[in-house]
Amino acid sequence: MARLSPLLLQATPVTVDHASGCYLYDSEGRRYLDFTAGIGVTSTGHCHPHVVEAARRQAGTLIHGQYTTVMHRPLLELVDALGPVLPEGLDSLFFANSGSEAVEAALRLVRQATGRPNVVVFHGGFHGRTVAAASMTTSGTRFSAGFSPLMGGVHIAPFPTAYRYGWSEDEATDFALRELDYLFTTVTAPDETAAFVVEPVLGEGGYVPGNTRFFQGLRERADRYGILLVFDEIQTGFGRTGKFFGHQHFGVRPDVITMAKGLASGFPLSGIAASEELMSRARPGSQGGTYGANAVSCAAAVATLEVIEKEGLVANAAARGTELLAGAHERATVAVGDVRGLGLMVGSEFVDTDGAPDRDRATAAQQAAARKGLLLLTCGPYMNVVRMIPPLIVTGEQTEEALDIWSEVLAEV
Ligand code: PMP
Repeated sequence: MARLSPLLLQATPVTVDHASGCYLYDSEGRRYLDFTAGIGVTSTGHCHPHVVEAARRQAGTLIHGQYTTVMHRPLLELVDALGPVLPEGLDSLFFANSGSEAVEAALRLVRQATGRPNVVVFHGGFHGRTVAAASMTTSGTRFSAGFSPLMGGVHIAPFPTAYRYGWSEDEATDFALRELDYLFTTVTAPDETAAFVVEPVLGEGGYVPGNTRFFQGLRERADRYGILLVFDEIQTGFGRTGKFFGHQHFGVRPDVITMAKGLASGFPLSGIAASEELMSRARPGSQGGTYGANAVSCAAAVATLEVIEKEGLVANAAARGTELLAGAHERATVAVGDVRGLGLMVGSEFVDTDGAPDRDRATAAQQAAARKGLLLLTCGPYMNVVRMIPPLIVTGEQTEEALDIWSEVLAEV
């Protein structure tokens, strides 16, 4: 008899049978309000009819048109559909399957394009589980412990996590930029640095939004030293934060973005976008893979972009996100040291009476919520942040429903 490996850790005891919109149903027909959205993936809701229809149609036409062998129509349609929503000048695209692969594609690109070996990442960042992406991940040793040596050439600078330091946003930003300059003096010379790789909002690292002055500081240094600025938009892209891409809150121009999750409503698809000039500095053929840009995934992505546009999901994410953040603030008890987020990424950080991270209480809250029919996840280096990341189609009634359950949970834990 075969069974699933214990390597897999599951956050809830739920076995899902089917799903629709913002709800999952288990095999006994029990309904759960899904405020995990498959970790920020099913932005158009589960099984959106327009996405399902596009995928069904494509699966009956062409499933796998291997893109280093032949070109296929859904891929060309996806490139066209992305044109209007990509940041200005980032109109050259490459596609893979998962977020980690997109991060690796970005890494290969920036190293080749600059001829420089090193990248600077920011403390608390999560970029994936493949060995190179895990080497760039600093949101918890659980993502890298035990399989060192990791990839070389990765240096870590602070992210302005004001709450953690007990500082104001300004103090945390000054510190982060000063330390970055110090890193350039002591550890990695700027002219050996290919890129900064940074999330607009730390995702797995605890739902910590960056800020305009910090990202402008990165942009200035990038321009001064010929370093490329890579925004990892895998969790923050496609409307999640209330703008199409997360970095757009900060008015800072990226050189490269990575994308995945919300791109194709759950079909595996990821990619990177950069300027044609930058992409052409890398060797043709240096990126690829058997399954990249699967035809059904591409068709689902085109349909996803249509739904995002037609149903006004970016504006909905902004409006519902504001309500959810305010609601989580109002309900916070003494066990919740901080509530923060951007758009439909809302985190509540649990602390004990001394203000130390309280992972047990966060886990208890997450489990209590699941028992009450609300699915949530934890995140953060200490796993003490409970996050709400619903589909972008979430309604005001559903955020109220979630907040009512959240009140009961907080009273219980
Ligand atoms: N980057 C970010 C910002 C992410 O949030 C994630 C996934 N949580 C990844 C990269 C890795 O994506 P994947 O799990 O699809 O490899």
